Amino acid sequence: MSTHDVINPATEETVRSIDLVGVEETDEAVARAVEVGPQWRGLAPADRGRLLRRFSAVVDDHLEELALLEVENAGHTIGNARWEAGNVRDVLAYYSAAPERLFGKQIPVAGGLDVTFKEPLGVVSVIVPWNFPMPIAGWGFAPALAAGNTVLLKPAELTPLTAMRLGELALEAGIPEGVFTVLPGKGSVVGERFVTHPDVRKVCFTGSTAVGQGIMRKAADQLKRVTLELGGKSANIVFDDSDLDAAAAAAPMSFLDNAGQDCCARTRILVQRNVFDAFMERFEAAMRDVRVGDPGDEATQMGPLVSAGQRETVRGFVENSDETVDVAFRGSAPEGDGYWYPPTVVLPTSTKDRVWQDEIFGPVVGVMPFDDEADAIAKANDTAYGLSGSIWTRDVGRAIRVSRAVEAGNLSVNSHSSVRYSTPFGGFKASGIGRELGPDALDAFTEVKNVFISTDN
Ligand code: NAD
Repeated sequence: MSTHDVINPATEETVRSIDLVGVEETDEAVARAVEVGPQWRGLAPADRGRLLRRFSAVVDDHLEELALLEVENAGHTIGNARWEAGNVRDVLAYYSAAPERLFGKQIPVAGGLDVTFKEPLGVVSVIVPWNFPMPIAGWGFAPALAAGNTVLLKPAELTPLTAMRLGELALEAGIPEGVFTVLPGKGSVVGERFVTHPDVRKVCFTGSTAVGQGIMRKAADQLKRVTLELGGKSANIVFDDSDLDAAAAAAPMSFLDNAGQDCCARTRILVQRNVFDAFMERFEAAMRDVRVGDPGDEATQMGPLVSAGQRETVRGFVENSDETVDVAFRGSAPEGDGYWYPPTVVLPTSTKDRVWQDEIFGPVVGVMPFDDEADAIAKANDTAYGLSGSIWTRDVGRAIRVSRAVEAGNLSVNSHSSVRYSTPFGGFKASGIGRELGPDALDAFTEVKNVFISTDN
């Protein structure tokens, strides 16, 4: 059995060595998930709901422990990590109401009664990236379990600890063995096996666009269902009629949260030309106040990057790039051990620049002027991605027009919020296929069955 050393990204110390699951154990887990499927989906809806509520309560009881584990494993700030553990609790509580509300339809037809059912798919796999190990896991497993599926979860190689603990907490809450199994392992081994195993009926994947494309190609062999939540390069559009102080004050954390390792990070700031300088002055002042450092400190706003490799990737866009990158200003970051990288603001000269087009997944933002509403929309949409974005304006009509015109799944006006567990989340274009969260996520984990009952016999 191969092992993986989990490293604390703020100290570079080894936290723990974990055994990685191989194909054989994955197949065994699939077989167990198939075996317990009928029992889980056959539970009375109220009982399944009750078990999910208990799971939610157990997560809540262990909230601080889970949060501290994420600080240690992923370098998330303690404030973020508490929110993330709380999000798992809330998503479980939200979907615990679903088993009793998994409504079908009664459709008027001649000669009988026609009804639809939302049937579980069977065994559902969830593949999670390293950037938000807890929430992204919960967005998959909570609705999947609520809909009556059994679930196999593969955390990212770098960040398995909270997922493994959640697997234990599920058992503690009374979720039967085999219904929810966490399999720490490699993407090329466990993840691939999810895609090729005929008894796994769905792959719910969050990660890079390239890996997502590969999964979709291979899933086609079995017409396997996929949900793909992929990369992003979201625009933050600041109009001249906005509250410029508020827009500039909010801009730093819109791309520095989680050290920029956030698929929704607003990494392309578009500022109307006539307020560009006024915005930059305020933005630079706001950047000076951002506290980068020990993620365990309550006052810290940004911690380290997750790994040495990720820091090299980020450097490759700024310091070691083939293109000339004009750095406008930078924040500070600790020196010494830990995968630190300072908040960095760059001024691309063209929308074709790599820093402007590619997802960097680090604390780097580009700022560019635009002329008018049409130019802002064109520039915002000049990307392969379409996950999220923000619009700062006091003009309600403009807010609505631009929100409708930007090709992205999650937009916010005068705010940078992207994710609420009760509203749908997902991407346009290369940012993915399907939606998670909100009332409709259950559709992604069920098949509609139509039954006609004749009244003539
Ligand atoms: P990644 O694609 O390298 O890995 C994601 C997961 O897929 C990991 O668990 C990995 O082990 C697994 N994997 C790798 N190769 C696989 C294969 N061949 N078959 C099956 N599984 C495989 O991504 P990452 O670097 O861990 O995460 C960062 C990416 O995730 C970024 O691009 C980011 O934008 C994206 N992301 C998207 C969202 C969203 O909701 N749209 C949310 C968070 C992160």
